Amino acid sequence: MEFHDITLMFALTLAALIGAVMIAAIGKMSDSALGARMWALGYSCLAIAYAINVFVSSEWNPIRGFTYNTMLIAGHTWLLAGTWQFMNKPLLPRTISLLFITIFASTVVFTFVMPIRDVRLVTIGIWLIVVRTSFAYCLWRYANNNRYEKTISRVAASLVLIEVIATIIYTTNGALGELPLIGKQTGTVAVITWLGALVGIMVGAPILMLLSTSRFIAELDKAAHHDPLTGLYNRRGFYYAIKPLLTIGARQHSNIHVFMLDIDNFKLLNDSHGHLVGDTVLELAGKTLSDIIRESDAVARWGGEEFCVLTYAMHTHHALEVAERIRQVFTEKCTQHPAFMHESVTLSIGIAINQKNNERFDAIQARADKALYTAKETGKDKTILYNE
Ligand code: GH3
Ligand code: MG
Ligand code: MG
Repeated sequence: MEFHDITLMFALTLAALIGAVMIAAIGKMSDSALGARMWALGYSCLAIAYAINVFVSSEWNPIRGFTYNTMLIAGHTWLLAGTWQFMNKPLLPRTISLLFITIFASTVVFTFVMPIRDVRLVTIGIWLIVVRTSFAYCLWRYANNNRYEKTISRVAASLVLIEVIATIIYTTNGALGELPLIGKQTGTVAVITWLGALVGIMVGAPILMLLSTSRFIAELDKAAHHDPLTGLYNRRGFYYAIKPLLTIGARQHSNIHVFMLDIDNFKLLNDSHGHLVGDTVLELAGKTLSDIIRESDAVARWGGEEFCVLTYAMHTHHALEVAERIRQVFTEKCTQHPAFMHESVTLSIGIAINQKNNERFDAIQARADKALYTAKETGKDKTILYNE
């Protein structure tokens, strides 16, 4: 099979264009896919760069070469910036500018002032090696969101390293002055380079799309299962989280305790201090719960100013101690808020334990609710254990 570099450039143009459009679409869908827009910009620049070689006169001239190189380095700058951004380690605008300007200036000098092709090739080649290595390093090192993201990122990083090797070969040949002009004659090195770049885009763009999509889905999943104010589970997330706890609890014949918690006189608090202060109190309650409740147990904002906790394999006397600690820490946290220097914000808690192995959660929760009601009826600011 014979390869022609302009045909490869045409394929590269299409691949980069498709990549840009697809990633831009995902970037538009979600703000959580940080960096996706930069990737889309990067691929757009690369598409323009390659298109210049295909559609603008086949004769090399400084303007064509300069535009191609500028678009190439702009594309790779955006791809790199997007990757660091995606991994929540955004490069400073100053770093990005410096990265771009140094190579841009060198390209201007070696295209117009001292038009020495080999030096131009080598400087851009070395720059690309550095940029791509940083790209691969970032993907490899910082993809930690979940296992899926980590695996995809490592595949992408390996692919980029292959491109780095192709760039090293290309640059070495450039340094030796052995590279024919693009569109003149297609040597082995050019075929390796352009095929490498093509595979890089054809596989790389879908990988970046997968990464962006997985972020987007993770974000949707989080939104579906968590309460945005406190970060705790909402009811849906809670039901999802307690399933395995109930199964293990039943298998091990463990105690299951359900706590229903409700902030006392919260309506009054909202009325006298305003909703924003009310929200802060809810956040403090959420923080108290997530600090105190074991990671193996489950806690949710049940609705409004009510919270629910499920613990397994815990003695009742310990459950009561935990409840008292929650109430004490919550009140202390609120006291530190300027609005509550002279009044205390309190919680009432109702607790119930499973009465038989494998009892349904709803049944235990209903008893905890009754205990909470008793706490409210008998003066609030207390914990009541359901006792038939
Ligand atoms: P009790 O001591 O008997 O529990 O009385 P309460 O005032 O705490 O209970 P009630 O159910 O009468 O009032 C709950 C209030 O919680 C009413 C509602 O405006 C407020 N609330 C519910 N969700 C939110 C929220 O997200 N933010 C704020 N600031 N207030 C909320
Ligand atoms: Mg209530
Ligand atoms: Mg209340």
